[in-house]
Order: sequence, then structure tokens, then C-alpha cells
Amino acid sequence: MTEETEKCISCGVTLAGKGWVRFPCPECGTIISRCARCRKQSNSYTCKRCGFTGP
Ligand SMILES: [Zn+2]
Ligand SMILES: [Zn+2]
Repeated sequence: MTEETEKCISCGVTLAGKGWVRFPCPECGTIISRCARCRKQSNSYTCKRCGFTGP
């Protein structure tokens, strides 16, 4: 069993249940995860690999 804990890149909350999204960074393709709250509030995120910042 592999159990990965995903965390929101903006606020660091552990992602569970529904409503959060996972998408590749537009710059480098690194998978970025965001919780529903940050998505709703359009909080900015910064890619840990390339430093890309976006809404
Ligand atoms: Zn968040
Ligand atoms: Zn990136």
C-alpha cells in the first residue's frame, strides 16, 4: 500500500476528501497541489522546483 500525503502548496494543509486540485506547473511540469480554500481565494502559489508564481 502506498499512501502519499498531499499538502496544499499555498497553506500547507493536508489534502483529504474532495475539492482540492492537482495540476502540473506551467513552467516545469512539477505536480502542484492546492486545497479548495486556496483555490477559492485565488491564493498565489510558488513552484518549489522552478520558483514559478501564479494564481
Ligand atoms: Zn491551501
Ligand atoms: Zn515549476
